[in-house]
Amino acid sequence: MNFNTELIHGGSSEDPQTGAVSIPIYRASTFHQHALSAGPKWEYGRSGNPTRAALESLAAQIEGGTAAFAFASGSAAIHTVFSLFSAGDHIIVGNDVYGGTFRLINQFLKRFGLLFTVVDTRDLTAVTDAIQPNTKAIYLETPTNPLLNISDIKALAQIAKAHGLRTIVDNTFATPYNQQPLALGADIVVHSATKYLGGHSDLIAGLAITNDDQIAKQLAFLQNSIGAVLSPDDSWLLQRGIKTLGVRMRAHEENARTIFTYLKSNAKVAKVYYPGDPDSAGYDIAKKQMTGFGAMISFELNKSLDTQKFVESLKIIDLAESLGGIESLIEVPAVMTHAAIPREIRIQNGIQDELIRLSVGLEDIDDLLNDLKGAFDQI
Ligand SMILES: *Cc1c(COP(=O)(O)O)cnc(C)c1O
Repeated sequence: MNFNTELIHGGSSEDPQTGAVSIPIYRASTFHQHALSAGPKWEYGRSGNPTRAALESLAAQIEGGTAAFAFASGSAAIHTVFSLFSAGDHIIVGNDVYGGTFRLINQFLKRFGLLFTVVDTRDLTAVTDAIQPNTKAIYLETPTNPLLNISDIKALAQIAKAHGLRTIVDNTFATPYNQQPLALGADIVVHSATKYLGGHSDLIAGLAITNDDQIAKQLAFLQNSIGAVLSPDDSWLLQRGIKTLGVRMRAHEENARTIFTYLKSNAKVAKVYYPGDPDSAGYDIAKKQMTGFGAMISFELNKSLDTQKFVESLKIIDLAESLGGIESLIEVPAVMTHAAIPREIRIQNGIQDELIRLSVGLEDIDDLLNDLKGAFDQI
């Protein structure tokens, strides 16, 4: 099956009982056991639910994995994946990862004795140099949030394999439509399914996917033990969102390309960050490992211009956190999504106070361009 067909017919999206083409929502906490036996297929809703299982089989298939696990948020998925490791284990983490991942590492996981080194994963020598005898994994995002930096997944996975480490990739920005880290050698993919996979800004969800049976067993144990599972209702909504991922991504990317071209040639714009920019540092790697460049664009206005006035002048594009929904969303990371990172670290990582991040939605492109033009006229 090709990818767009898998989105619709992959996993077990049809109800095995009735043949209903849309999987029912099994809203049950427990399941009647017709005979006393150890390990029936369905026993308790945290351990397994048929609606969640349908979503998980679909997610595994579209990421090229053998097992997937659905969680109540992307953060819960990431927490559960880090729970594979034990006190004293060392993990290399990319320097431009989601702010909430930084918070989880620095203010929570370190208390349990996990050790971390933050490295720019674009720099393969720096990654190799950071490996210690107790290093167990490399954790990265590509493209990153909000700078859209690109790291070479295949090269990093090769380094990891040579040193017996696991490679974990947060694939939220690219989605499996554009990038499949497991095929490039990664061991685990995590998602904030809240974003493109859900796609409609109406749920919070997370996924972890693997193609390694040992990791799958451990994740199944941790998902059930920690218990941050996705509800049957949200599992249904997420699989519903995934079915249109292909058409949505094509339309998102078409709009994004037009907006990139507009911003790039705009005299009021100082800098544009977009993986599809042939002048960008990551372009060649992005072209090699991605089938499209996504629909996230970050940019900076000329120094003298008022960023706040610009974002507040927009009428169609919503000033809001999050991304990947049908509606265009704009935000200022320094004040909003990345405010939890100390300013000097933020600036050191290249996130200026004036940086603007745009998640290009599915509105009519002329309305989006007019909205941007209107805001540029105000400054
Ligand atoms: C939003 C996001 C997360 C966190 O996911 P939640 O669903 O909000 O918990 C993790 N990684 C990236 C790249 C994100 O954008």
